[in-house]
Amino acid sequence: MALLEVTDLQTHFRTPKGINRAVQGVSFSVDAGETLAIVGESGCGKSVTSMSIMRLLPSGAAKSAGRVTLDGRDLLGLSEAEMQAVRGNEIGMIFQEPMTSLNPVLTVGAQVSETIALHQNISRAELARRALEMLDLVGIPDAPRRMNEYPHQLSGGMRQRVMIALALACKPRILIADEPTTALDVTIQAQILELLRDIQREHGTAIILITHDLGVVAESTNRVAVMYAGRKIEEAATDTLLANPRHPYTRGLLAAVPRLGRAERGRLAEIPGLVPDLRKPLDGCSFANRCPAATEFCRQYAPALELKAPGHVAACHLAEPHGGRA
Ligand code: SF4
Repeated sequence: MALLEVTDLQTHFRTPKGINRAVQGVSFSVDAGETLAIVGESGCGKSVTSMSIMRLLPSGAAKSAGRVTLDGRDLLGLSEAEMQAVRGNEIGMIFQEPMTSLNPVLTVGAQVSETIALHQNISRAELARRALEMLDLVGIPDAPRRMNEYPHQLSGGMRQRVMIALALACKPRILIADEPTTALDVTIQAQILELLRDIQREHGTAIILITHDLGVVAESTNRVAVMYAGRKIEEAATDTLLANPRHPYTRGLLAAVPRLGRAERGRLAEIPGLVPDLRKPLDGCSFANRCPAATEFCRQYAPALELKAPGHVAACHLAEPHGGRA
């Protein structure tokens, strides 16, 4: 049994213009010590998937169904109090923009201490010692001084490190990192991804890395699940997926990854067109309006997610099946 198993997750939002089917039957699993990337453009459902796992979506407007199990325990069936204990203690989360998640009027040390105190009953002196240890762990230089500083006094990279310290404060078994490096420059991005790898190596933490950028997954992840229009449309081991993508959308995302020289010459490929409106019913393949290989058959019949090679699934009529349905 995998540490986290998501089975047939569906999340729908009520909107004034109809039901938005943001996540439609998504399944995946993550083992201890493994990193799974969930990749796709914005609006493809990847962040809604992570917020559904954490049950952080507004309960009035959003409804999730399916199964999300942590060591066999179904998180969607827990009471809010039980779920609160899971957040932070068992699953930690890092968001894209630390300034909106950190409290601007509390020192960094106070925020990390408060987070630890929420989950553990220990003395103030021990809290301060643990907070300092966490800032050290995430590579904040001169941590004793930084403990007394406020978020606006730190650089973007340092703030993201504080967010990681907060997410790791109670040693969760799973870390969900939602676009953790998008707002950072390339050098700091690489440092943050290296930090996540180090933490995983040392603590065996499972990581779900959510990103729109296939360029960051190569060295950081074991497997990649690609989402499009609320569905998983491809999944494989990272090396396999990067070397041999089966879905035209994944190939489009790969072509959009800047490589040395290509971006500078201004020839970065873009996938033309837009993600379909998920409030409207759709016949056929959801990528057909943007796919260079689309046929009339594609526009009429939605492809199923099928095994295309060992450990490699994709939802595309033109990718040869391997002898089974995923
Ligand atoms: Fe393109 Fe057809 Fe494959 Fe959809 S099923 S991705 S439209 S080739």
